[in-house]
Amino acid sequence: MNIILLGAPGAGKGTQATKISERYRLPHISTGDIFRANIKNGTEIGLLAKSYIDKGELVPDEVTCAIVKDRLTWEDAKDGCLLDGFPRNLFQAAELDKFAKIDAVVNINIDFSLLMDRLCGRRVCKECGESYHVSTLNGATVCSRCGGELYQRKDDNPETVKSRLEVYNEQTAPLIDYYTKRGIILNFTGSEAPADVLFAEIAAVLDKKIG
Ligand code: ADP
Ligand code: ZN
Repeated sequence: MNIILLGAPGAGKGTQATKISERYRLPHISTGDIFRANIKNGTEIGLLAKSYIDKGELVPDEVTCAIVKDRLTWEDAKDGCLLDGFPRNLFQAAELDKFAKIDAVVNINIDFSLLMDRLCGRRVCKECGESYHVSTLNGATVCSRCGGELYQRKDDNPETVKSRLEVYNEQTAPLIDYYTKRGIILNFTGSEAPADVLFAEIAAVLDKKIG
């Protein structure tokens, strides 16, 4: 079973992805995480990706599609995977159709007015990727789950967030229609409620699909 997780930056994709991937034993494939790992390791892909990510723009399709196409050939993905952050435009969706069969698209809708504060206040664990909001940390600088150091993503600043949200509206949102027409979209609404609330809703629907 191949599942796509769709939603604006800050909608809670990453958090839900971790939970979905654990419950259904699907490898979590996040193009954003792959790019950040490449940036950290100073690879050629990382160097290229950084120039786009820092501006809140999409990394070129050719590079992004090649990474995902390769990742899907790994042993752990042979029975399915959870794609988080890919595809992000219609071109990528059409490419993906050439190398994978998509069974379901979990789409998280969210009120845009929540996103600027969520993203700019976000702190992420360097070790396990868990995200937090500064307002709930009470000054803590390490992850309550694993003790890892928390950091702020370089693209979580007002200017870059603004362009990421524009890119989402212009390029990614049309995917909702694309997958709705195909009859495989599952719609959910994100909110300020704890992530577990949304996850319970998603799991109730996926349990029926996956069994
Ligand atoms: P978010 O959904 O919060 O923006 P991601 O970690 O998914 O975070 O993505 C961070 C950045 O990585 C994006 O703003 C973009 O520059 C790049 N990126 C991630 N996935 C893709 C993709 N499928 N195509 C092009 N660029 C991507
Ligand atoms: Zn952690």
